Amino acid sequence: FNNMDKVDPEISAVIRREMARQENKIELIASENFTSSAVMEACGSALTNKYAEGYPGKRYYGGCEHVDEAENLAIERAKELFKAEYANVQPHSGSSANIAVYFSLLEPGDTVLGMDLSNGGHLTHGSPVNMSGKYFNFVPYKVDSETERIDFDAVRKLAIENKPKMIVAGASAYPRIIEADKFREIADEVGALLMVDMAHFAGLVAAGFHPNPVQHAHVVTTTTHKTLRGPRGGAILGKEEYGKLIDKAIFPGIQGGPLMHVIAGKAVCFKEASTQEFVAYQKQVLLNAQKMAEELLARDFKLVSGGTDNHLVLLNLSNKNITGKEAEKLLDEAGITTNKNTIPNDPNGPFVTSGVRLGTPAMTTRGFKEQEITKVVEAIGLLLNNPGDAASTEKAKSIVQELCSAYPLYR
Ligand code: PLP
Repeated sequence: FNNMDKVDPEISAVIRREMARQENKIELIASENFTSSAVMEACGSALTNKYAEGYPGKRYYGGCEHVDEAENLAIERAKELFKAEYANVQPHSGSSANIAVYFSLLEPGDTVLGMDLSNGGHLTHGSPVNMSGKYFNFVPYKVDSETERIDFDAVRKLAIENKPKMIVAGASAYPRIIEADKFREIADEVGALLMVDMAHFAGLVAAGFHPNPVQHAHVVTTTTHKTLRGPRGGAILGKEEYGKLIDKAIFPGIQGGPLMHVIAGKAVCFKEASTQEFVAYQKQVLLNAQKMAEELLARDFKLVSGGTDNHLVLLNLSNKNITGKEAEKLLDEAGITTNKNTIPNDPNGPFVTSGVRLGTPAMTTRGFKEQEITKVVEAIGLLLNNPGDAASTEKAKSIVQELCSAYPLYR
């Protein structure tokens, strides 16, 4: 940071501390990843200087010939990667992508079905504290209380009762496959549009390890920074017929100038995601999640839905006499970063919770395989099965340190 050290040593010190945290801790937040140096170079490039309101070839500013190329590359690569007719790569985030879809295809007050936040859905799927829930009449659907999987009979019943204009599928804390084909059947039965938010599992879709929702949904939204491992941002994919409306909803609807440096980073990400190395990476993400589930079950942990088909597991701590909040803290103190998370029918609220969400994408990027995941779970077991025990905490800390130094980040 030659320049930053001179101009702003405070911020450069903050960034160094954050880099050290990333280097020295085990990152199990399921929505995080470590993007490539190539993506970071694009995001740190001179493209940040450019205003480019509008779309390639139709801008409100001059001098857009090069950023047009970058955006066209990102669009074409996204379309090819996800076999989509249409792509918009301008959403600043997953939330912006979702809000733009709602404002393009719905009228305020319209009824929408979305997964309940406490059952794994996202804030933008109709939470009353989010713009989605304030502008639209979201009716939440839940998972089955026995299987803890999406209950399609209940979704169908709610759809028939409420006649939604749109059904939103996708989640932030759901360890199973999102079956877009089943959602589409229900949407067709009641004449609703289907939006799938694949933010969490987009990387698995790109690599062919999760059914591609683009085949079934009218519109698909995503973030680019989770399993997809790109820069922080969003994208929208779907059928060509909705393209014009969605483009308008992003700009001038809810955003101004696109972040061209991030769009260049998205283009790099889509290129990386189309390689065999990326397929091998996603395969390992899944193998690691399977191993994590197996090792947790062997240590008397309960898992929501009993296991996982994707990149994450959701610990149900109800048999451990600690809350999600306490568990997050215990893990963090030993160098394992996670987030507390509600479980279906959680008796505790969202600030306390009875669960912890654990994901494998970030540590798989660092090179962890099943053997390392087994050690991580050993550390988790030591910490959560013996809360506060000094010897267990020391042992867990040494496992974390050993693993982090064996797999350096950004070699
Ligand atoms: N959709 C889902 C399913 C998510 O899990 C998230 C973020 O966690 C988002 C949307 C929102 O993405 P962002 O944080 O980029 O707004």
